[in-house]
Amino acid sequence: MIRAIYPGSFDPVTLGHLDIIKRASQTVDELIVGVLNNGGKTPLFSIDERVSMLLEVTEGLSNVKVLSFSGLLVDFARQMEANIVVRGLRAISDFEYELQMAQTNHKLNPQVDTMFLATSLDYSYLSSTIVKEVAFFHGDISEFVPGPVVAKVQEKVLAADEE
Ligand code: ADP
Repeated sequence: MIRAIYPGSFDPVTLGHLDIIKRASQTVDELIVGVLNNGGKTPLFSIDERVSMLLEVTEGLSNVKVLSFSGLLVDFARQMEANIVVRGLRAISDFEYELQMAQTNHKLNPQVDTMFLATSLDYSYLSSTIVKEVAFFHGDISEFVPGPVVAKVQEKVLAADEE
């Protein structure tokens, strides 16, 4: 039984994330999307909102679970009995940080190895940050995030406009 964790902030989930989720879920028995509840960053969406959007967009994927976690990824991996961490690589700029994280996690828990999936060409420019920037200037984000997420981001933008 190969169980993997795909961790991230997913603030919000993009089509790039969903592409990695679909491809990773085809190569393992169970994929847990781990939504990081990190007190350090101030996210646009609460942890519950991020989890619920991920649940909605992964509904058709029977071996994908969505859970939130806080603290160290290796502790969450141990708790879930998962030995693989999945991360997406978009560009060389991702590489340095990702390599450092992968090596640190392996040092902290030698049973955990990180596997990288190269982003699809269609989504290599895409990040949650870019989506939020475009949305806050009322740009069209329908090609960046799954359908149900478009409206959720727009609601946040409207609420911010009203403030
Ligand atoms: P984090 O804050 O941990 O980087 P993100 O939610 O931004 O969390 O990203 C989670 C993972 O998804 C990371 O491995 C990131 O490299 C990957 N990722 C983000 N956007 C894309 C994309 N467009 N294509 C492929 N992978 C991506």
